[in-house]
Amino acid sequence: MTIDDLHYFTQLRATHPELTDSMLLNSNNLSRFSTEPDVVVAGAGILGLCYAIHLKNISPHLNIAIYKKNRAPVQKIGESTLSSFSRFTTGAVMPQDYFFRLFGLKDGLQFYCIDREGVEVTSEDIGGLDLSFQLDRRMSELFFTMWAQRIGINVYHGVEVDFDSTHHFNTPQVKLKNFPKPGVTDVDAKIVCDASGFSRKLTSKFGNKELLDGWNCDAYWAYFKEKEGGKAETRLDHWDYPATKHMCFPEGWGWFIKLISWHHAPLANLMDLVAYIINKAKSGVPANAIPPTKILSEMFNCPFESITSIGWAVRNDHEFPDNLEEYGGGEGERKFNYFKVLYPTLNKLMNGVYELLPKYYGNQTYFVRKSMTYRSPVVAGEGWFAIGNSAGFTNPLISPGINAGIGTSVLAANMSKEILDQPPEHSHVVMKKCAASYQTYSHEFMIPRLHQMNRYWYNSFRDHRLFEVMVPCFWTLGVDDVDSQYVNEFTEEDVYWVIGVGHDDFVDFSGKILDILEPSDGMTVNEEKVEQARALAKQCMDYRKERFPGNEWGKYLRRHDCKLQLVPEKHERMPGGRCFGVRCKSCKVWRHNNMNACPVCGA
Ligand SMILES: Cc1cc2nc3c(=O)[nH]c(=O)nc-3n(C[C@H](O)[C@H](O)[C@H](O)COP(=O)(O)OP(=O)(O)OC[C@H]3O[C@@H](n4cnc5c(N)ncnc54)[C@H](O)[C@@H]3O)c2cc1C
Repeated sequence: MTIDDLHYFTQLRATHPELTDSMLLNSNNLSRFSTEPDVVVAGAGILGLCYAIHLKNISPHLNIAIYKKNRAPVQKIGESTLSSFSRFTTGAVMPQDYFFRLFGLKDGLQFYCIDREGVEVTSEDIGGLDLSFQLDRRMSELFFTMWAQRIGINVYHGVEVDFDSTHHFNTPQVKLKNFPKPGVTDVDAKIVCDASGFSRKLTSKFGNKELLDGWNCDAYWAYFKEKEGGKAETRLDHWDYPATKHMCFPEGWGWFIKLISWHHAPLANLMDLVAYIINKAKSGVPANAIPPTKILSEMFNCPFESITSIGWAVRNDHEFPDNLEEYGGGEGERKFNYFKVLYPTLNKLMNGVYELLPKYYGNQTYFVRKSMTYRSPVVAGEGWFAIGNSAGFTNPLISPGINAGIGTSVLAANMSKEILDQPPEHSHVVMKKCAASYQTYSHEFMIPRLHQMNRYWYNSFRDHRLFEVMVPCFWTLGVDDVDSQYVNEFTEEDVYWVIGVGHDDFVDFSGKILDILEPSDGMTVNEEKVEQARALAKQCMDYRKERFPGNEWGKYLRRHDCKLQLVPEKHERMPGGRCFGVRCKSCKVWRHNNMNACPVCGA
């Protein structure tokens, strides 16, 4: 048996049943182990893996080791991605079409503002600009792990990292727990990257989480599948289109993300499937010559199915009724069901279309995450950077977690290269400069702006008339020249774009809107404030149209024309957009317009 065998990992497991998951994964490491690697990454979540992959691409000679606490990749929340991520993967990993064998296609964002009476639904959307993926996070983490290993990065599962950061003038000392080689407990690296997510393994040593001004948000979620013959009349306009869908209401909003789940596939089989795709891509076989998902699933005995992640992200300054018992058992179930029932449009949609998947991921059916918005006070220092959730997180709205987070991976990797490229006598000065600049980026620029974006969006949910003008304003402020913005690579410019909030025009405008709306910061808003905000939005739109006259918004928005005017009878995007989804007549899954066959069933 050789590593090139199609079923190498399943055979390895069959012949060596004593191998644990982490042994199987660690056996795929190709580089020599060192107690003095150039770089150590704590955490093999999506952003730690992307940091390491980018750094290895730009500095192939580096010895990079990633340590991950879990024994194997596990499902976690955070499935929806944007062009930032797909551009990163296209430039740093492989072209998009290979990924559509593994992940669901995503085109754009759809928003529905609903009211408490179940009467009015106002929709806004954007799409046709870029394509990205709806991720099964166990699969995405496994894929990027195996890609990293393939390019020479060692990824060790089942190894917990801690840090000794008492010597503030040295790179933090890495302490390993459960490393597979007996006696290995300490590692000296030149640079350390804390990518340990919400556990904030290194950042927590430099201070508690900082909460940002105003209300925070809590999330309640569960997993569903679409009912066979679900009621078509309960679906909202364009509901089946493969966008991430948002249901907006005064307390917050809810996400609906349909994805391809590989949850029931055994690890060894999935590893064979992923190795097969990586081998094909690396040897130059075009994506369209690779069998579709259905055949791959049979070849490697990896079952897959469509599921939908559904959850609410709500402000924590509203009052729940005293007694929520009628809504179910635990807190997650009660609060999830409370919002579902509160909004008749939501209730009808959920009852008509979706069926709960109890205990789909382990013992829990409903999940809760409280006070999601925070930042770490210190995110870089002598010999270290913190990326992704270890540096901070705001809210899942418009998916900044991975998609703005990828900016932290790329920036920290570029800076790591800059430091490691220096002769020893200069590296300390460069490190200091990079740490200061990274701290300013993450702590002063990215997180506060994303927080301002959330306050802006949540305020727009308080009234349909606000929603109708504030959402298109956000698009025009987030994108300057719409047709040239989307290139096939993630650039340093994207790092500062931060999914649209990097532009100062957005900060100025949203600041003025919040000055009007926030002083009466409740769920409802008075007429005078609605009028003031709408007048300001009109001015903003006029200004941006004048500044970017070539933008043809009608190609990317369903309800607006090229001049961003709302057109009541317009329900589709004008032809000429960069891309769109086409539904397979055979399996009903969506592919994009440039594919000549369905990536899932091959029809
Ligand atoms: C309710 C909710 C919904 C979300 N939805 C979206 C979405 O739709 N789209 C989106 O882009 N983002 C979303 N996010 C955010 C997204 O989940 C995160 O931003 C993303 O996972 C961050 O990646 P990360 O690599 O920083 O951390 P993680 O993915 O959490 O990875 C951290 C890694 O560190 C490891 N680790 C932890 N401690 C240690 C240790 N001591 N030693 C070694 N390893 C360790 C863990 O095993 C894990 O592998 C959502 C978040 C929430 C809360």
